[in-house]
Amino acid sequence: MSAPSSTARTYRITALAGDGIGPEIMRVGRAVLDAVAQQMGFALQWQEGLIGGAAYEQTGDPLPAETLKMAQESDAVYLAAVGDFKYDTLPPEKRPERALLGLRAGLGLFANLRPVKVFPQLVGASSLKPEVVLGIDLVVVRELTGGIYFGQPKGIFTDAQGSRRGVNTMVYSEAEVDRIARVAFELARKRRRKLCSVDKANVLEVSQLWRERVNVIAADYPDVELSHLYIDNAAMQLVRWPKQFDVILTGNLFGDILSDEAAMLTGSIGMLPSASLGSSGPGLYEPVHGSAPDIAGQDKANPIAQVLSGALMLRYSLDQPQAADRIEQAVEAVLAQGYRTPDIYSEGMTLVGCQEMGEKLVAALSQQQAQ
Ligand code: NAD
Repeated sequence: MSAPSSTARTYRITALAGDGIGPEIMRVGRAVLDAVAQQMGFALQWQEGLIGGAAYEQTGDPLPAETLKMAQESDAVYLAAVGDFKYDTLPPEKRPERALLGLRAGLGLFANLRPVKVFPQLVGASSLKPEVVLGIDLVVVRELTGGIYFGQPKGIFTDAQGSRRGVNTMVYSEAEVDRIARVAFELARKRRRKLCSVDKANVLEVSQLWRERVNVIAADYPDVELSHLYIDNAAMQLVRWPKQFDVILTGNLFGDILSDEAAMLTGSIGMLPSASLGSSGPGLYEPVHGSAPDIAGQDKANPIAQVLSGALMLRYSLDQPQAADRIEQAVEAVLAQGYRTPDIYSEGMTLVGCQEMGEKLVAALSQQQAQ
């Protein structure tokens, strides 16, 4: 038995289960986190908040003020997923997905981290050749609160002749670039010390400033090897030879696209966690995927992205890296034992539901403890 590594302490975690498969995968995520906390000698004090369609149904608001307050006052926020196609006709401010924007803004989360790691047991799930994907271990750091999604002016404008123009503005200030660049450099330092910044500096002035500032910040991180790629080349390199990347730093729009492309390298959206961080205060941890209404309530969801999001929470917000390692090792162990939810199932494996996958993960943690 290994002894608890850290001084006993209690962390206050806001759990937001949301919609669709959210409650199912949240149950598993919490069970795994509670199990590892007990093993490592710390405690998680859970507080449940309403969000998304579930919150809209009960309060008329997808992000009630009390949910945001609860999140702001916690050590970390653990979110499953929101949304359902039945809410598509609601006005934009009432839609479940709007809650995510409100949460990010309310917590000041400007950095989105998406680690993409290919588990050797699942190389066959990728649409790329095994030799291309085996060993992929990269993180996309995406700026989350600036760029073209927020720049002004924006809108659809009608001129005097009645002709309409759609307008969005891509804008980054020096300060916005500097703070996201620092997040990426710090992360690279904890990994393989390679950082690739992605922009479109051959065409866009906003990218020229981006590149200039990343080079300035790089002076504080001489131990990190910095390179730059244009977004078009980066999109190509990511499918040509993804193993060349360690940390990829990019803006909001390019990051939106690249992080989905990177996610699909693994071929299994149910496996990918994410973290969103601010300068201070609680981080937000959630799977990359949505609420999967097509399989909700059928015990078919893969809870691993939720579980791995819990590992990120332990590493980045709670400073419990050993507990995070344990969870990641438990996922590998369960995959090695051949257990698969339907989305990652292949012949010869053992098909399990969401709940049973959770039980196998908790069992794998106990086995580690016993070793
Ligand atoms: P989705 O990610 O929910 O589902 C896409 C496909 O992947 C579906 O076939 C689904 O069954 C499958 N899938 C997703 N997660 C899975 C898991 N854990 N296990 C097994 N299969 C899984 O995307 P969508 O269908 O485009 O969107 C559904 C709803 O989710 C929409 O309302 C959308 O707005 C919302 N959404 C929410 C978030 C979020 O909460 N962060 C992100 C994306 C989409």
